[in-house]
Amino acid sequence: MKHLFSRDDVLLLAERAESSKNIIIVTHTNPDGDAIGSVTALGKFLSNIGLTHQIWTPNRYPDYLSFLDTSSKINIYRNGKIRGDFSTEDSDLVICMDFNQLNRSDDLEPFIRESGAYKILIDHHPDPERDSFDLIFSAPSASSTCECVYNIIETLCDLKGSYRNCFDKSVADSLYVGLMTDTNNFSNSVTPETFITAARLIEKGVDKELLQHKVFGVFSEERMRLLGHVLLNKMVVIPELEAAYIVLTQEEQQQFKFREGDSEGFVNMPLNINKINISALFTESDEYVRVSLRSVNHFSVNRFSRKFFNGGGHERAAGGRLYLPIDEVGRFFEEKLKVFIETNYLTNEQDL
Ligand code: 5GP
Ligand code: MN
Repeated sequence: MKHLFSRDDVLLLAERAESSKNIIIVTHTNPDGDAIGSVTALGKFLSNIGLTHQIWTPNRYPDYLSFLDTSSKINIYRNGKIRGDFSTEDSDLVICMDFNQLNRSDDLEPFIRESGAYKILIDHHPDPERDSFDLIFSAPSASSTCECVYNIIETLCDLKGSYRNCFDKSVADSLYVGLMTDTNNFSNSVTPETFITAARLIEKGVDKELLQHKVFGVFSEERMRLLGHVLLNKMVVIPELEAAYIVLTQEEQQQFKFREGDSEGFVNMPLNINKINISALFTESDEYVRVSLRSVNHFSVNRFSRKFFNGGGHERAAGGRLYLPIDEVGRFFEEKLKVFIETNYLTNEQDL
């Protein structure tokens, strides 16, 4: 394994955690497999070494990920109209995972910003908000935050042999789910290190077929029919821009009994069309339109999202928010895409 982070930083993290009375672990809004995988993996490892902690998500996460929360440690801050009892007042250590900008923690952001706790970031998105953290574990080359957590735990176990038994199968299960989901089942953002990590996790007892089933094989009938509906009736293909997009309204979500996570993966589908290299999914919610962007060439959806969609992410997988009526979203996307392609579409890698 290549060490992603310095041994000194890993030791510092361990020292901070060991001396902390109240550790809070936080991830981003609309948590995905890597978010839930990384917070539960770290949480379970901390419990195994005898450290108590709290885990908070800004809002609900998909039901199919709940099997990772083996000790029911995850607290959801905004669960429908109900807000949880979250406070950073007594916390001396806040660990933020799988996001690079504090505003990704949504309603939790002001609590974290104002907290006097020591703040650690563990993440794999480019350009982290450095000023907001005391210690940063940032590896944009890593497939997932879970790959970063694996690396940190392994380094720590090398340094402190007594911790090795604490890296058990349950921790490995969580990490494997993050690897699997953030790489779209090992097809994107995968490096040799990702496969080495996956292999080591399987050696720890991960049942990859079982996890594959639990994460990708437990959707409702309505979700499958919604997928059919959006591909047949909603996908707009623009060959001259090598792009396609789907707009999913609230009315359709009600019609197909939509639940968190039901549209996971939809945005990747149009990329299977020959010569379609950019894909977008727009999902209407009460407050905004959620934006999901993907590309398979050198088009930087990260920059495209930063510029037009109030968001960001990775070069080929990004997201954001639009504050527009849902029927104006398609036109907005087409317009901005044309502008962006004409001006500045290269990824950072291509600029170098
Ligand atoms: P997804 O399309 O799966 O929701 O998100 C793809 C990627 O974009 C993820 O890495 C996610 O962290 C990032 N992302 C999604 N939504 C936002 C957003 O609103 N702001 C920023 N900065 N990144 C986002
Ligand atoms: Mn991630």
